[in-house]
Amino acid sequence: MATSKKASKGTTTPKYIFVVGGVMSGVGKGVTTSSIALLLGSRGLNVTALKIDPYINVDAGTMNPTEHGETFVLKDGLETDQDMGNYERFLNKDLPALNYMTTGSVYLSVIQKERNLEYGGRNVEVVPDIPHEVISRIKKAQQAAQADVALIEIGGTVGEYQNVLFLEAVRMMKTQHPDDVAVVMVSYLPVPGSIGEMKTKPTQTAVRTLNSAGVFADIIIARSPAAVDQKRKEKIATFCNVRAENVISAPDVGSIYDIPLNYENDKLSERLCQVLGISTQKAPDLAAWKKFVARSKSNNDVVKIAVVGKYFNSGDFVLSDVYISVLEAIKYSAYSLNLKPEITYLGAQAFADKDKLKELKKYDGVLVPGGFGKTGIDGKLNVIEYVRKQKIPYFGICYGMQLMVLEYAKNVLKLKNASTEEIDAKAEHLVVGVMAEQREKIAKKEMGGTMRLGQYEAVLKKGSLAAKAYKSTQIIERHRHRYEVNNAYVADLEKAGMTFSGTSPNGDLMEIAELPTTTHPFFLGVQFHPELQARPLAPHPLFTAFVRAAYESKK
Ligand code: GLN
Repeated sequence: MATSKKASKGTTTPKYIFVVGGVMSGVGKGVTTSSIALLLGSRGLNVTALKIDPYINVDAGTMNPTEHGETFVLKDGLETDQDMGNYERFLNKDLPALNYMTTGSVYLSVIQKERNLEYGGRNVEVVPDIPHEVISRIKKAQQAAQADVALIEIGGTVGEYQNVLFLEAVRMMKTQHPDDVAVVMVSYLPVPGSIGEMKTKPTQTAVRTLNSAGVFADIIIARSPAAVDQKRKEKIATFCNVRAENVISAPDVGSIYDIPLNYENDKLSERLCQVLGISTQKAPDLAAWKKFVARSKSNNDVVKIAVVGKYFNSGDFVLSDVYISVLEAIKYSAYSLNLKPEITYLGAQAFADKDKLKELKKYDGVLVPGGFGKTGIDGKLNVIEYVRKQKIPYFGICYGMQLMVLEYAKNVLKLKNASTEEIDAKAEHLVVGVMAEQREKIAKKEMGGTMRLGQYEAVLKKGSLAAKAYKSTQIIERHRHRYEVNNAYVADLEKAGMTFSGTSPNGDLMEIAELPTTTHPFFLGVQFHPELQARPLAPHPLFTAFVRAAYESKK
């Protein structure tokens, strides 16, 4: 197999770090992978990160967000898992579609290759052909990035049937490149209330399960409510076949941005470099990250933002993961303005009752994020009308922009029978309609990966609120939608005071709508998803403009 010709910064051959989970899911494999990426990057290494998800879905675009969380869209348009968002945010770089795979996508390409006779007529089998496909994708991603280190997170936990073939790929890679592959297991050590002691047994069992797949952990990240003491580190070392200094304590923390710094307290990046034979001459430079973390903790003035969405409620639980990029984008901008964000999640459905709208007075700004379908629409339209009239800063994203335009058409243009084609295709005034390119796809039920996805350029009107925020009239943003503002209504909407301040370069697609700041402090909607490009060390200009307007309007 080909490897990168490049040798740099203490590595002579590309290195691969696999991150797997033990005991249970949801204990932070994604943030661990992101943190390792940040730490190795801070040592001057060129790092890339991949996610492997074990489901049959070919991408994450067809899953209900209440089950799966946010769909994160990469710049080249692939719909992926929210972990990809964490990698991009921690690494502060865009990642390509090559860096994401699912069981479904891997099988699909193996089957396609078989149909194209690419296996030369031989018997194509689950083993080794599926792991070989996985390995070839990992190597392609490493090469494309010219990465010194490729991190690969394997979704799920060891012991699930679902990810056995991915562990098989790890085993094969370790055999091929014994000095260049490291395995990090993120495990959980419970402290049962009735016992009051941290228990290592579930981790021991998980390690044994991993070993039975022929894979051995080099590093164990010991996730737990409390820090792991030396005694338990030694116990884990003895029973799990790792060195005690390779057991990294990972207690619960208030903010995920503390995690890389915590890992460094236990010298994680040094340990990994040692395992992989990477020179550690260059110490980690975490100054910018530390500054960001310090800002996030300082006791600044509060800015109160309400996010009105429909996916927050799941049984008795509140899910905020569905909007994770939006929530993080608000935080980065607030921190950059030396403000302390207080974000409240409000279920849109409740605002169908207009008496509830008064509640919105408590907030300095209101944001309606992306969404699909009927649920919560009446509530969202009521919210938008209320904040428009009350002059509470409003930021609408994707569906939040479409509904902002629809609300204006209904209540200002007085088009009573107005709707979006997504909800009522028979309405008299389809102020938001299906995009021309989408109509046929919907008719043929080709719904997977077929929306308008990924990066597109837009041009902005000079002097508009948007152009001032971006300090530019040319932007590139990521999209995910099937519907758009119907151009037949644009002239009337503009006559009634709304400006379409951003369009596609040929002027066909309305990408940004706003009201002049002489009539409202901040009332702006975007057809794209700016949150996907917001980074801790590079906050998004529109979020910053919104948060600033929210804070100023409260004064
Ligand atoms: N449902 C709308 C569309 O498909 C908005 C999509 C979104 O908010 N991501 O156009």
